Amino acid sequence: MSKGLLIVFTGNGKGKTTAALGMALRAAGHGLKVLILQFIKGAWSYGELEALKRFDEIEIEPLGSGFTWKKETLDEDARLARSGWERAVAAMKESPYDMIILDELNYVLSYGLLPLELVLEAIRKRPTKLHVVVTGRNAPEELMGAADLVTEMRRIKHPYHDQGVKAQRGIEF
Ligand code: ATP
Ligand code: MG
Repeated sequence: MSKGLLIVFTGNGKGKTTAALGMALRAAGHGLKVLILQFIKGAWSYGELEALKRFDEIEIEPLGSGFTWKKETLDEDARLARSGWERAVAAMKESPYDMIILDELNYVLSYGLLPLELVLEAIRKRPTKLHVVVTGRNAPEELMGAADLVTEMRRIKHPYHDQGVKAQRGIEF
């Protein structure tokens, strides 16, 4: 039996996006087709962006390099979130993919830039074999309720939080 899973990686600890990238790699090894849509990510995701270009099975698209999260640009952020979401919906419908990763979608949802209902409905209606992975802090309760697999990354130590060590290439981006 194969069942498309809804997978959520959330929590305040490091490793949510990394875990999703690991799943993409594992899936690609079996020839499964993976689409990674990076909500809110721009210049910081270049490590994975460059590395994953080497895999024919994986497509990765940063959607939101324009997000600023300032009050004055909230309309623009919401517009970016919606156009990113339209891309996600189209990808889920047509789905030539076996797995779709919606990286940092939880942020977009927790900032109220996209209606949760819309997201839940599209996920519910997806092709039955399609795996969907959602990452980001503060996953909405209803999303976790709908999920088949939820893992919470919990910070015990983090080099920035505890020592002020700035983001390093290969580790954070
Ligand atoms: P990663 O992309 O490394 O897997 P993540 O997806 O779990 O991290 P995000 O919430 O997307 O984490 O945050 C991205 C950045 O914030 C990463 O550079 C990460 O190292 C950093 N970060 C994550 N957790 C913490 C924390 N508890 N304190 C400080 N910085 C953190
Ligand atoms: Mg992340």
